[in-house]
Amino acid sequence: MARVAVVTGGIRGIGRAIAIALKNAGYKVAANYGHDDATGRQFSEETGIPVYKFDVADFNACVEGLKAIEAQLGPVEVLINNAGITRDATMHRMSFEQWNAVIQTNLASCFNMSRAVIEGMRDRSFGRIVNIGSINGQAGQYGQVNYAAAKSGIHGFTKALAQEGAARGITVNAVAPGYVDTEMVRAVPKDVLEKIVARIPVGRLGKAEDIARTVLFLVADEAGFITGSTLSVNGGQHMY
Ligand code: NDP
Repeated sequence: MARVAVVTGGIRGIGRAIAIALKNAGYKVAANYGHDDATGRQFSEETGIPVYKFDVADFNACVEGLKAIEAQLGPVEVLINNAGITRDATMHRMSFEQWNAVIQTNLASCFNMSRAVIEGMRDRSFGRIVNIGSINGQAGQYGQVNYAAAKSGIHGFTKALAQEGAARGITVNAVAPGYVDTEMVRAVPKDVLEKIVARIPVGRLGKAEDIARTVLFLVADEAGFITGSTLSVNGGQHMY
């Protein structure tokens, strides 16, 4: 039986590539998104993957969203916590709203989604959770105390939950992408981006597919001995 996989923020960028890679590998995939109905509709028409709109920052919305997914596709065995946003500003200019939006969407979402599926995974003695962190959670980044704190938090969350899940067949890992060519990175000014690429030893931005193949590796049934790890996929920009 095909395993059911949920990808948050799964309709564009890195999440889209992960959802498509999982589908091509034989998983039954559900792609979540938070706002962009037009892109959600187009994604679903193009890929045949059903989409579910709910805000990952809202605990009750996650519980309801996952109930709907499980009713339609079956118990969730693979969860990819990918949804994320940036609200960049230096600390002395950052509002509480910018801080809180990033913490809720990027970090609290991992609790919201994982909490809603973890009991089922424990009951069935199988689960795969992959959280998308960031090079900027490992190394810090100017203008991103909110984002770096959330992503760094994801790396700790991953190691703690991995310890809890290990005896129940549940692995929990993180992937820490470097700079990947998606809308999030296209928002960075061109001159800044050129300087970033100049510091990437591989000499290019990452592709969403570079991250997707890493996720696919971690969620495989055969990957049961890999847990609590963070895999850096950054072209050699930061060797952690
Ligand atoms: P995009 O901005 O291209 O896509 C983000 C996705 O998250 C969208 O589908 C968006 O859908 C969804 N999303 C945002 N907020 C919510 C919400 N509240 N509820 C549900 N879904 C939401 O980002 P990327 O593909 O670039 O990034 C994906 C992940 O990878 C993020 O966690 C990001 O931090 C991380 N990352 C990205 C890097 C990069 O270089 N691109 C580098 C390192 C890490 P909608 O707009 O409809 O809500």
